[in-house]
Amino acid sequence: MLYAEVAVNVPVRLNQTFHYRVPEALAQQVQKYSRVEVPFANRVVQGFIVGFSAPPATAKIKDIKRVVEKETFLNDELLTTARWLVERYLCSLGDALQCIAGPPGVKRKSPETVLIAQVDQVTLKGLSKAPKQKEALELAMLNPGLTKNQLSQLAGVSLSVVNALLAKGYLKEVPVHGVTNDAPVDWPKLTLEQVSAVQQVKEALNTKQPSAWLLYGVTGSGKTEVYLRTIKEVLRQQRQAIVLVPEISLTPQMVERFRSRFGDKVALLHSGLSQGERYAEKERIKSGEAAVVLGARSAIFAPTPDLGLIIIDEEHETSYKQEETPKYHAREVALQRAAQCKAAVILGSATPALESFCRARPGGPYKLLTLTKRIEDRALPSIQIVDLRQELSLGNRSIFSLTLQRALARRLANQEKCILFLNRRGLASIVVCRQCGQVMKCPRCDISLTLHSDGWLKCHYCSHQTRSPASCPHCSSRIIRSFGIGTQRVEEEMKRLFPSCQVLRMDADTTTRKGSHEELLDAFIHGEAQVLIGTQMIAKGLDIPQVTLVGVISADITLHMPDFRAAERTFQLLTQVAGRAGRGKTPGEVIIQTYDPAHFSIKAAQKHDYLKFYQQEMITRQALQYPPFSHLIRVLFSGINEADVMAAAQWWQDQLAAAKQAAGFSQVEILGPAPAGIPKIKDRYRWQLIIKGTMSKEIRNIAAKVLEQAGLRFKQVAVSIDVDPI
Ligand code: ADP
Ligand code: ZN
Ligand code: ZN
Repeated sequence: MLYAEVAVNVPVRLNQTFHYRVPEALAQQVQKYSRVEVPFANRVVQGFIVGFSAPPATAKIKDIKRVVEKETFLNDELLTTARWLVERYLCSLGDALQCIAGPPGVKRKSPETVLIAQVDQVTLKGLSKAPKQKEALELAMLNPGLTKNQLSQLAGVSLSVVNALLAKGYLKEVPVHGVTNDAPVDWPKLTLEQVSAVQQVKEALNTKQPSAWLLYGVTGSGKTEVYLRTIKEVLRQQRQAIVLVPEISLTPQMVERFRSRFGDKVALLHSGLSQGERYAEKERIKSGEAAVVLGARSAIFAPTPDLGLIIIDEEHETSYKQEETPKYHAREVALQRAAQCKAAVILGSATPALESFCRARPGGPYKLLTLTKRIEDRALPSIQIVDLRQELSLGNRSIFSLTLQRALARRLANQEKCILFLNRRGLASIVVCRQCGQVMKCPRCDISLTLHSDGWLKCHYCSHQTRSPASCPHCSSRIIRSFGIGTQRVEEEMKRLFPSCQVLRMDADTTTRKGSHEELLDAFIHGEAQVLIGTQMIAKGLDIPQVTLVGVISADITLHMPDFRAAERTFQLLTQVAGRAGRGKTPGEVIIQTYDPAHFSIKAAQKHDYLKFYQQEMITRQALQYPPFSHLIRVLFSGINEADVMAAAQWWQDQLAAAKQAAGFSQVEILGPAPAGIPKIKDRYRWQLIIKGTMSKEIRNIAAKVLEQAGLRFKQVAVSIDVDPI
């Protein structure tokens, strides 16, 4: 009799597993790491087999119910990563394995093959007596890579006609990935800065020791070219590379850039794959055949046999942090896997996360590679800051400043294209004085206070609260009010000021349908509108040469997000949005509107000066002991009944304080309970606690203790733990 040890996908103790009997009938269908269904507390849940062993003598053993997936592509190396996730992000082993294995794949019945034609004109002529065969063959020549079914449909002939051509040898079946364009591969001559970067990484790769690099280079400085060269080196060593890009950058152009260099060695892993496609790609990765894995966040768990290099492009992007349990950051996983596999990690960005740049200081764990110049010395766009406080005195009450209005008029008259950007993320209601631009902030946390419907201004870090003032505490102006405009308002204003101009709006409301995102962009590119209005959706990656003007309607929404990273997000976002202007021959122009024109993050963005921004922001972070000078864990409580939610949060607060005391961690602070940034979502109240400490291990330690004690104590309240929240 076979017994299996199963990690179940339920919130149990962190490393806990359970034993089940493998029924005789299933014995041939399971192997280590198979995904199975098992009975668990009157339910049936999924889990992963992590070993086979004799059962504990006394326990009442239940049977495995079903094998969901025999081959999950988990392996011993990935199990180590899973155990690390458990420890690092305080999730159960089942959650960690589920996250790594991803959704189930389905093995295709037979390996999929496609057709290529092997004929010349003479043979074709010879077929004139068999017109159906001739026509099918001609179509196959024109369209290499069709399946048998596709060809028979396209030609309108039966499968037997196709089979006849195969029998004659005029058609040949090859594996799906055997069809490549053998176009000459174009490796440009590297610039001196690129050569130096590539050389350093190559040397590290040759030592076969783990290494980590921060590739800091302005947009268009040739970072991607550095990635491609280092990957080439890794392939020469018969090892594999994983390349992560933000989901939004996983465009056909990006894929094409990698395919043109590495052909069918490239495997794609993303959420849009069918079960069959996912299985096939993972199989190619596992065998080492596909040695360049390109994908979004979860591709970090690709089952490579001998991982040599991990690249994370735009490493500061928040999409690398998973929002569901386990709330991992792909960058941290990359470092863990690299250490385990003795691989190199390259983190690339024009605006590195503060944490990353800080780790790249001399003596830090990352080595810094810098690309200071754009390829061919192309210019960066010029950026103008508009002080919105002056618009009132200029008699302008529009949300478009006079400067922006004039610039729009000029560009539109020239038939050029414009982008108007408004960040809606973090559109919590803040209170701002329209005279002096001051925002109401928490005196303790330096975080913007959030206006709640009960009229109180609350800090969602420390629970400090105060009445919303009737006049500005700084300048006594009575024009102080909550601030919140949406893209719809911008569209209306655009139509009012420029009634004959065609406008497109792209935000969460206009892109609910699948494919609508692409359609809108397509319409804009092909001239159906001259102005595109959008949220952060349009901040990244867009490469439209005719766009010469980018207007940022309000930098303040990001700047005053109730988040200690608000300044950093502002700098990153402004830099990114600015990068959309002037990508063609006509130089670009960027106009940033704000009530806080002297803010250092806006000024640094204007001058494209990351270092200046970094230095200034580090001073603030240090003064308030925020990351990277400390570590945080956010514990979020949510439920239908607010009293239950608050009680759970209070219980946790007490237990955390006791655990802290018992462990003697004097450097640990417990903030809250306080209402979460968004205090209510879908009828569920949300409260949070923040654990703050100088040692990540210490705060994880006490959080894990309390998690263990809590067990299933709060049935009506969901507790979710976020280590290093962003
Ligand atoms: P980044 O990733 O830093 O934004 P890219 O690698 O995309 O920069 O390079 C920007 C542009 O310059 C691309 O069109 C790329 O093909 C081109 N490029 C990069 N390196 C070179 C080079 N050494 N010589 C010529 N063109 C280059
Ligand atoms: Zn004021
Ligand atoms: Zn506070």
